[in-house]
Amino acid sequence: LRGDDSGLNSSEREIEKALRPLTFDDFTGQPKILENIKIFVMAAKKRGEALDHVLLHGPPGLGKTTLSHIIANELNTNIKITSGPVLDKPSDLAGLLTNLEVYDVLFIDEIHRLNPIVEEYLYSAMEDYKIDIMLDTGPSARTVQITLNPFTLIGATTRAGLLTSPLRARFGINARLEYYEAHILTNIVKRSCSILNTPIHEDAAHEIARRSRGTPRIANNLLRRTRDFAQIKGEGIIDKKISEIALNALDVDHNGLDEMDNRILSTIIEKFKGGPVGISTIATACSEEAETIEEVYEPFLIQEGYIKRTSRGREATHLAYKHLKLVPPSSTRD
Ligand code: ADP
Repeated sequence: LRGDDSGLNSSEREIEKALRPLTFDDFTGQPKILENIKIFVMAAKKRGEALDHVLLHGPPGLGKTTLSHIIANELNTNIKITSGPVLDKPSDLAGLLTNLEVYDVLFIDEIHRLNPIVEEYLYSAMEDYKIDIMLDTGPSARTVQITLNPFTLIGATTRAGLLTSPLRARFGINARLEYYEAHILTNIVKRSCSILNTPIHEDAAHEIARRSRGTPRIANNLLRRTRDFAQIKGEGIIDKKISEIALNALDVDHNGLDEMDNRILSTIIEKFKGGPVGISTIATACSEEAETIEEVYEPFLIQEGYIKRTSRGREATHLAYKHLKLVPPSSTRD
């Protein structure tokens, strides 16, 4: 139900596409970021310049890719999409950069995973719209400098802390997307329902929103599954009862924590006496990758106050014990 969209089949991909906001006006939430970016886009257009490079960071599913498409759309330019791990060699990057038209957007997802050699190449491209290309090898090797069209690089990352400082310094616009509040996600769920022609009751929309870990991608995924339940077990209308049946069947608990969230909490408490315990130890005990726990699960559990990050590792809070209906040791404080 989370992570990326790689598990979707083709009809679900179509739905996903239909639900994706296309303009600033369609995009719900993140008001501060939106307001600033709108101004930067308007100013760049007015001056007839490329928009400054943009770094978008925050947990997966909060709208980084969506916002990048919207920015290109509002700039009336094309967007080329790639990702850090895909750009293996400088020539891969050079191929993309030399094909950009004036003011186009180049979107690099997972930019913290760029190969350092490719990253170095990106510096001059970002700074002066120039790259040096090596022609030939051996004694006849020489470099030629190519001037690129002015463009905007939008980098997205779930781990801003892993970005090198020279790369970070080259982004003029830096925005951190936050988890969405339930009332905003409720509006996103209702908007998706109207696109899908699925009637939904207000309290059901709120229930799905409240249990979506503050994440639009999860809200839309839960909505699609709930719609299945409504069509098979009900009359096609999503009411509160159907939403509860579906969410329980999907192992999303009353506080919106899913199976892995609960496994992480019970591991810290039951296997490691509430912590502190290191992330890699938790990962091994939960049979999950440490990186996934750090990127996907932990930020939400910390924000909601279930775990604390200390210099010695992760600790379960009072709330985590309460959530699992366990008695906290007297030394555990929130
Ligand atoms: P990220 O790139 O941060 O992982 P995406 O941009 O792929 O996230 O967003 C995941 C899905 O959630 C998108 O397909 C889109 O339909 C939906 N979504 C994200 N942000 C919003 C938003 N603010 N309003 C409505 N839908 C959104």
